[in-house]
Amino acid sequence: MASAKRPETPEALLKRLLDALRAQGVTDPGVLSAIEKTPRDLFTPDLFKERSWEDSALPIACGQTISQPFIVGLMTQALTVEPRCRVLEIGTGSGYQTAILSRVSRLVYTVERYRTLMKEAESRFSALGLTNVITKFGDGWEGWREQAPFDRIMVTAAAQEEPKELLAQLKPNGVLVAPVGRGPVQSLRRYAGDGKGGFTVEALCDVRFVPILEGVARE
Ligand code: SAH
Repeated sequence: MASAKRPETPEALLKRLLDALRAQGVTDPGVLSAIEKTPRDLFTPDLFKERSWEDSALPIACGQTISQPFIVGLMTQALTVEPRCRVLEIGTGSGYQTAILSRVSRLVYTVERYRTLMKEAESRFSALGLTNVITKFGDGWEGWREQAPFDRIMVTAAAQEEPKELLAQLKPNGVLVAPVGRGPVQSLRRYAGDGKGGFTVEALCDVRFVPILEGVARE
């Protein structure tokens, strides 16, 4: 009699995901270790729990999405975070990317325009014992002037145009990674400060992010 296939263990699913990320070029040991230590199933809604270890974006509350693990890995790697860095993240969403950033940096400041998402993310940070995350409910397009300048800035929603205000809140040698473009497909850009107030801009790949929206939401 053919026996039913045993469901894969979370460890096996995680290993498969990490192998897929490595195969696609996410090789930074610090980034891979941060992903390994962060249970993605804590960040996905009940309806999609069993797909938590797939390398795909999934829907979350408020019509938003939790990013695809490969994109999280790629963006974190491109941000070249160092342990002493203060990082600003725009678009907390589920908080998954925030949690990854918190493991490779000193402090993460994260801004979200849905209070519902922010509150849920905060309880996940507490559950994981992440004490170096500071959240703010607000319009991330304005950055976080009181806490600027930042060593690194990551934007996890699509900027319709050059993120000028955010670039102004970056240290002279800082790095900002953001999807930039109108329409469903954007260009993932890496801005690296040249130390003299200018930037070199690199297009990394095409990505699909939900857009940055103006102001804060009512939810
Ligand atoms: N990094 C998140 C991605 C969430 S999707 C994750 O992996 O879960 C992008 C998020 O950006 C959404 O939560 C959306 O509400 C938020 N967002 C969009 N425009 C914003 C703005 N102007 N200010 C702050 N957050 C914004």
